[in-house]
Amino acid sequence: MFPALETERKQETLPDPYEDFMYRHLQYYGYFKDSLMLSSPLLRSRQLLFDELDQVNPRLREPRELFAFFSSKGTLQAPRWPIECEVIKESIHHIEWVPPQPEYFYQPTGNEKLPEIVGEEKGTVVYHLNPVPTEGSYFTSSRVGGKRGIIKELAVTLEGPEDDTLLFESRFESGNLQKAVQVDTYEYELTLRTDLYTNKHTQWFYFRVQNTRKDVTYRFTIVNLLKPKSLYTVGMKPLMYSQLDANIYNIGWRREGNEIKYYKNNTDNGQQSFYCLTWTIQFPHDQDTCFFAHFYPYTYTDLQCYLLSVAKNPIQSQFCKLRTLCRSLAGNTVYLLTITNPSPTPHEAAAKKAVVLSARVHPGESNASWIMKGFLDFILSNSPDAQLLRDIFVFKVVPMLNPDGVIVGNYRCSLAGRDLNRHYKTILKESFPCIWHTRNMIKRLLEEREVLLYCDFHGHSRKNNIFLYGCNNNDRKYWLHERVFPLMLSKNAPDKFSFHSCNFKVQKCKEGTGRVVMWRMGILNSYTMESTFSGSTLGSKRNIHFTIEDLKSLGYHVCDTLLDFCDPDKTKFTQCLAELKELLQQEIHKKFNERGEEVNLEGSWSDISLSDIESSTSGSDSSLSDGLPVHLLNIVDELNQKMMSKKKKKKPLQTRKQRNELHQKNKLMPEFKLTEDASDRAELAPTLQKQSTFYKTLENFRSSAMKNEKLSLSESKRPGFTPSCPQRGSTDSSQESAPESSQNFLCSFRPAPLENVVEQPELTISPCKLHCASRCPQASVGQR
Ligand SMILES: [Zn+2]
Repeated sequence: MFPALETERKQETLPDPYEDFMYRHLQYYGYFKDSLMLSSPLLRSRQLLFDELDQVNPRLREPRELFAFFSSKGTLQAPRWPIECEVIKESIHHIEWVPPQPEYFYQPTGNEKLPEIVGEEKGTVVYHLNPVPTEGSYFTSSRVGGKRGIIKELAVTLEGPEDDTLLFESRFESGNLQKAVQVDTYEYELTLRTDLYTNKHTQWFYFRVQNTRKDVTYRFTIVNLLKPKSLYTVGMKPLMYSQLDANIYNIGWRREGNEIKYYKNNTDNGQQSFYCLTWTIQFPHDQDTCFFAHFYPYTYTDLQCYLLSVAKNPIQSQFCKLRTLCRSLAGNTVYLLTITNPSPTPHEAAAKKAVVLSARVHPGESNASWIMKGFLDFILSNSPDAQLLRDIFVFKVVPMLNPDGVIVGNYRCSLAGRDLNRHYKTILKESFPCIWHTRNMIKRLLEEREVLLYCDFHGHSRKNNIFLYGCNNNDRKYWLHERVFPLMLSKNAPDKFSFHSCNFKVQKCKEGTGRVVMWRMGILNSYTMESTFSGSTLGSKRNIHFTIEDLKSLGYHVCDTLLDFCDPDKTKFTQCLAELKELLQQEIHKKFNERGEEVNLEGSWSDISLSDIESSTSGSDSSLSDGLPVHLLNIVDELNQKMMSKKKKKKPLQTRKQRNELHQKNKLMPEFKLTEDASDRAELAPTLQKQSTFYKTLENFRSSAMKNEKLSLSESKRPGFTPSCPQRGSTDSSQESAPESSQNFLCSFRPAPLENVVEQPELTISPCKLHCASRCPQASVGQR
């Protein structure tokens, strides 16, 4: 098993883009001609750089991994896939295009067919991905290009030019078709792949068909959707992309489809209800390559191309610093952008407030990326408003929180098989690196400056328009202030943004979301932005699907609203606040009337709990907190089984060694039963001390690789950058209240039999060490 890993490591270590770049850099400036400079002992240190040839004024170079995101050759970091995923070599690219005419919602005729699902017994399987890791399996390791070896041809072999069977494919970034069954000449039943290592979350879809015929009507039916309600029931159409139309006419994604119906699948397996989405379509060309998607795709590669263009732009790169926030489980870079103009004095730099924006924690919500793109396009532009915003704010942006999920085509989860937006309180840094580091970055940012606003961009599968979820503020001094920004935004984008759909109730089940966690950390204006997969019900855009341009405009409106919100002339702010009070009074009256009660609101009406007035956000796209990451669940099951079988047996006489072992195990059990409660973890510390030695070795091994990852930004003494595997005793570790040993124990990603953990540490360190190294490219760099 290990030679494979060695090859990967070699691939990653050669060539060194940083060294290559520096060599060219020095050569360009003629450094190698200057024997005097070369003979300087200072130059022998690669830590030092010289700005001017004539000046001996060295500065520390930027850490290697960070600086070398995009090498001088301009190549992108290829996405890393779980090793069981097959990936085709072709690269998929779509043009950006905005339809000139409005794309209206589908109007049901009432005659739509509800095809009965016949399955593969009566049809022909024409595409089938296998095997797919679902429930019971977990992520182990990753590599560029996914599964090794020759990629099998999954589509059927055509019998000749007359054969008009469609050829399906989805083994590309964000694709997720699991199976296609031909049930009639032009009719196909489609099964979506569930989120990896789970058996649920089907919603997003993205796949390719080839060998099309025009002038015939095809029908597609997705058979394993899980949500009872869908925007497809209120006029949403699927998106279609024709490669020939793109090549010839420069036409991109468009809303297509007829006879659209969303309905319950009657073939009941007794456990779970499935829902179907069916639609018919006529392709525009013969022999075309077409794509279908739930929403405009935006892949990890798309993001990297965008960031590369920013990094290469001599102007933008001056005020937009690109850093690694951390590595995902698969080892993909999670990017952190710091956008701000240099300040004339340190005092002014320190006085800047911060704004934190993030997107794609839910990988199937590509809407979020388009809003983020709109925001970045504007904030990085030379518009006077953008310049002003960069003068007064430090923007911290995490444009893709869950790159692994985006790459593999998940809808909701990371490779831990969990919804990351329920785990923002996590202490499991190794299992949930992207959100652990985001929270930590914000924690440090808060120590440094006020964070005026936090907003995490999402997509919504059952409501139209765009809206915000916020958190009711308990401080009377700032009563209703959290609603001012959303109200202003609704005024700035009245035909897209619905203030009426906003909600500010903090529900128990949402305690682990980014919005609630950041609010509890002290960010008053902490929001989740929900944007529909469909379109608007408001104003001039009523009953029209949103285009990419509509979503991007929201990014601009966020900027515009920030300026209104911070206007030194407080007129707009106070007007909005007065309007909010008025709205709330009306709401209170309505509630009391509904209950048939009289209310006298004079004097103390603001003391009424806002949570009592508002209905919950149960209408939101929520999923309950889903517990420990899947790989840890396996250990829990194993231990539970062992405990059960131990209980049944009569207790034999035990040696002292055996008694000690049992004692160790019993003390370990509570850790697995609880989820992530820090107070309980303290109990584990003594038990796990024994393990800490070898885990320390592991940490040291990894931290040695991370030593170069400290950097300083011009704007801040304590940058918002967090290395993926910070050094022991660094600021990061000290801020975590968890005992190190227990944290380390939980970070053991590959489960090992408990006996081995306690008695034979050397047996578990190797796989864990190698595992971490395999998915943490920095670690392998450190090995050189
Ligand atoms: Zn979401």
